[in-house]
Amino acid sequence: MKAQAKSSESLLHGGSTPTRAEITKSLDDGLFELIGEHRHEQVSLWYEPECGYRGVVAIHNTTLGPALGGTRMWTYENDLEALVDVLRLSRGMTYKAAVAGLNLGGGKSVIIGDPNSKNREAIFRAHGRHVDSMAGRYITAEDVGTSPSDMEFVSRETKHVVGLAGRSGDPSPVTALGVYRGMQACAKALWGSDSLAGKTVTVQGVGHVGYYLCKHLHEEGATLVVSDIDNEKVKTVVDEFGASGVTADGIYAVDADIFAPCALGAVINDNTLKVLNVEIVAGAANNQLEDERHGDVLHEKGVLYAPDYAINAGGLINVNAEVEGWDLERSHKKASEIYDTILKVIQLATDENIPTYRAADRLAEARIVEATAKKKA
Ligand code: NAD
Repeated sequence: MKAQAKSSESLLHGGSTPTRAEITKSLDDGLFELIGEHRHEQVSLWYEPECGYRGVVAIHNTTLGPALGGTRMWTYENDLEALVDVLRLSRGMTYKAAVAGLNLGGGKSVIIGDPNSKNREAIFRAHGRHVDSMAGRYITAEDVGTSPSDMEFVSRETKHVVGLAGRSGDPSPVTALGVYRGMQACAKALWGSDSLAGKTVTVQGVGHVGYYLCKHLHEEGATLVVSDIDNEKVKTVVDEFGASGVTADGIYAVDADIFAPCALGAVINDNTLKVLNVEIVAGAANNQLEDERHGDVLHEKGVLYAPDYAINAGGLINVNAEVEGWDLERSHKKASEIYDTILKVIQLATDENIPTYRAADRLAEARIVEATAKKKA
């Protein structure tokens, strides 16, 4: 299949959220062109008007294993916006699983609706039936707007769901471990030693992941400067780890060795790049680059960027443990290997003189190509 949906290219390739006009224009090329642009294997729509369930499941690629990705519930402006979102997110999961060395493919689902809806049992059971109809090609989990208790409802209709309460549990400590290990790899590549002792690290967002990351860094003797819009959370890391707090806007301009975005996406953008004064960007947040070109700017400036989906794969590793039946020790070992992954990414980027975000994509794609060739042989 050779898809030619030129105008939809920017829509599915990451970067900023497409406008309604862009989405409509891309659809003028045809629905199948949009789905085919990045070779999604399958898109499924399921509608149960009685309970108001409107769900879309996208399976991007199952070469390496069943497609795993969470269920997002959101009040999309229109159905097309939901479709574009699920196509982008599911593709991202293929890359994340591939680069992390997991035997998983990429998939994701979205439920169009108010994430605070009270009608949860009916909606999530409908979603469970939808997921079950894919017979294990897609495994779901919680994501933005959904919770482990919603997944309990899903599990009444299908066994293809992970992240249930009492199973793999909060992924944040494993994610933080992976980010910490990825940071050490960056330090090794740039400064010749893993050690983060004496380095100044700015951590934006000290929520679930940010807190555990600060703990690792403090134990290693790093100096912490943190921000959060929730002052109580800042106070906790100031008290526990001797961090200094700065304002939410002030964090970008702090002179530091490493900037760790652990709150929001799109924080590497034209404005922040003007003031950012660090040698490494390495954090847990998804979609840190507002646009791919901002990754190019980091590369040109000589700032080492640990690609977000490669360094924050600990969350996926944590739920994969449920699929594979791993214990916590095995998950921690796998998350620790993010160190080797990030070193590999940096090596490839150096060899080819390309930005690290492109090097990560290449590694992921190479693994899928290799697996495809093996299957054919
Ligand atoms: P969280 O909601 O627990 O923490 C995010 C924190 O950021 C909150 O404390 C919030 O108050 C703060 N925040 C929001 N806006 C801010 C701003 N403008 N400036 C400073 N702080 C701000 O979320 P989390 O689970 O810790 O995840 C953090 C990031 O990592 C998210 O982008 C998430 O998508 C990503 N991520 C998380 C995991 C995981 O295992 N939890 C895995 C992969 C990726």
